[in-house]
Amino acid sequence: MNTSSADALSSARYVIEGYGRLLYIADPSTHMFDKFNDVPNYITMAVPFFISTIVFEALLMWIANYREMRLQNGRKVKNFRLNDTISSISAGMFQQLTKLLFKSVEFGAYIYIFENYAIFSSYFPVRSYVTWAFAFFFVDFGYYWFHRAAHEVNLFWAAHVVHHSSQEYNQTTALRQSFLQEHFSWLFYLPVALFGIPPSIFRVHRDLDTLFQYWIHTELIGNLGPLEYFLNTPSHHRVHHGRNPYCIDQNYAGTLIIWDRMFGTFTAEKEDEPVLYGIVHPLQSFNPFTVQTHHLLHVMEKTWKSKGVVNKFKALFYGPGWTPEKPELRLGEIKDIPPVQNLKKDPDAEIKDLYNPVIPLIVNFYVLLHFAVIIAVQNMVMVRIDSAEAYTLNPVLPFIAAFLYFSMTSIGMILDGKKQGIILECIRVAAIPFLCRFLELNESLIIFIDIFSISSFLFSLYGFSLFSIKQGSDILEPKLKTL
Ligand SMILES: [Zn+2]
Ligand SMILES: [Zn+2]
Repeated sequence: MNTSSADALSSARYVIEGYGRLLYIADPSTHMFDKFNDVPNYITMAVPFFISTIVFEALLMWIANYREMRLQNGRKVKNFRLNDTISSISAGMFQQLTKLLFKSVEFGAYIYIFENYAIFSSYFPVRSYVTWAFAFFFVDFGYYWFHRAAHEVNLFWAAHVVHHSSQEYNQTTALRQSFLQEHFSWLFYLPVALFGIPPSIFRVHRDLDTLFQYWIHTELIGNLGPLEYFLNTPSHHRVHHGRNPYCIDQNYAGTLIIWDRMFGTFTAEKEDEPVLYGIVHPLQSFNPFTVQTHHLLHVMEKTWKSKGVVNKFKALFYGPGWTPEKPELRLGEIKDIPPVQNLKKDPDAEIKDLYNPVIPLIVNFYVLLHFAVIIAVQNMVMVRIDSAEAYTLNPVLPFIAAFLYFSMTSIGMILDGKKQGIILECIRVAAIPFLCRFLELNESLIIFIDIFSISSFLFSLYGFSLFSIKQGSDILEPKLKTL
């Protein structure tokens, strides 16, 4: 075989393996590592596969929408909403960026428990199919309990709520993640360490269990027949993302739905009551800081206002639905959950409380272009930080990170229709040439960056004229055609 055909074969293999991992299909023998630090970052490696499936789903949705096709529940297929899509991807980028800046605590405790207290580690060598199989079940079981706690403990929900705050349900919803979640999820895997599953195998399964949950975020896949009995599927996970009273606190599965069936938290999707996605009180913001912290602030306020130590404890560690008025109900009462529209009766109806501020079409194009640039910058940082050149990036990383946080915030606030968003945007694009000079970027690039920055600055100023500004309000009213 010549070199080029060998290269083509290894590229094809890389692509097949990449898509396979999204379905938890992986050859164990190529995923066993003696050392923990040798395990690749399968989540970062999955980024191109995420992008391609998002584009593919968007295309299918567009075709289905164009042909007026209907979903299983009778509703029309919708297209992606730009504001929601950007907000979800921003949350994922925010989480990854924060993970890069602050040393992750995720695996430290696991390794410590394994090295000092593991009980059956001698039965679980790294290169063993038995270890692989046990790790698969243990990790997924640990995920079930972590996920259940993330919904049933108010403080943990303050993190996990980020993933549920989209009112849409598509592949980008899977990327909407909390930067706080990894600070408590590790607790639920310590029994796996105690049992003796090696850290490297644990890490591979953690990534595969996470990746499996990506593809199930779609409305385009209906019932999967016999797979529905034992696997977590798009249908089961749609219920999990629902705010219909029947969906609350159901279907916590990662890969296997059997845990929900065993522990009484399973509910099948109802034909006669289409799922309405999001949280019980829909979030009114695309600002990434608000998306990440809104419920944490609420939990702190609720705890502060609760009278007595016992109530303060319950405000933190009982369910988000718990109230001092019904102190004995740990998770609150389902009948207190606001009812939702039944879209089965009128599948073409608009969702009444959909958060969807109106923005001029041209501003949406501007936002799309700049968000694509922000994704590219963050991706370059992530790739370089994983490479041998990381040390050249470390001293300037906080500045690049600050710029990325600022960028996501300014774009989120524009999507919210906030006046401050456009002011922040003017400052942001004016700062780009200075930042590039500080980072000592390639001279030949600087001229293009300057032109990009000046034209963006002028457009941002022009952006003000596309809105009418009401006295005393920070919300803008668009004058032009909208998207
Ligand atoms: Zn959840
Ligand atoms: Zn989900």
